[in-house]
Amino acid sequence: MRKPVIVGNWKMNMTVSEAKNLLTELKEKNLDSEVEAGVCTPAIDLTVASNLLEGTDIGFGGQNMYFEESGAFTGEISPTMLKDIGAKYVILGHSERRDIFGEDDELINKKVLSALDHDLVPILCCGESLEEREANKQEEKVKSQLEADLKDVSEDDIKEVIIAYEPIWAIGTGKTASAEDADAMCGYIRNLIADLYSKEAADAVRIQYGGSVKPANVKELMAKENIDGALVGGASLKADDFEALVNHRK
Ligand code: PEP
Repeated sequence: MRKPVIVGNWKMNMTVSEAKNLLTELKEKNLDSEVEAGVCTPAIDLTVASNLLEGTDIGFGGQNMYFEESGAFTGEISPTMLKDIGAKYVILGHSERRDIFGEDDELINKKVLSALDHDLVPILCCGESLEEREANKQEEKVKSQLEADLKDVSEDDIKEVIIAYEPIWAIGTGKTASAEDADAMCGYIRNLIADLYSKEAADAVRIQYGGSVKPANVKELMAKENIDGALVGGASLKADDFEALVNHRK
């Protein structure tokens, strides 16, 4: 059985003081322990997350990293640094990293391999643009991203990866893919993993949907066979909303 996993992506939000307030509120919530919960914070908030979430079931992680352990890479954060602070996850290949900062599949692949080498759980994002969806090229796009991003990832390691299917047109826009369309794409990704690896790997890998997930639509999405969780931007910034997402089964 795949454990449902809800992860907040705070993006470039939350000063240290704001992060303290939000995490203090979150800690007081009675979250469903059958659902894995995590927050991926800006790098500057990781110490706060590490201190405040210690002893709770809420994991935390980074929103990006470089693949090297240390060195002359100004402005970057390394897997060793994330691991040392107690991070569990690292989001890789988010569409904002790809589109705004020009990250390509070759770089993302190096990051995925490095995260796995350092026992971090990569939350690997993929998804099509509106133009690609309108041209019915969503499967082609996601296939090319995942084949490249997962190059040389082993059969054992793929089971640790969380794949987040995030259609770009649904991120931060308030437009959610219909639960049927989201499930169809997550099912497509699962079949792709079966082709690239094995049925066992496909059954084990967790696939999240991301794109304007909120308390009002989480139940419908999470009820779908191939959707194992959600990567959540906007709605993860309010403790009550994040609680409702994690507690979608209550
Ligand atoms: C995201 O940040 O990955 C995301 C899906 O954002 P939002 O939930 O705000 O659409």
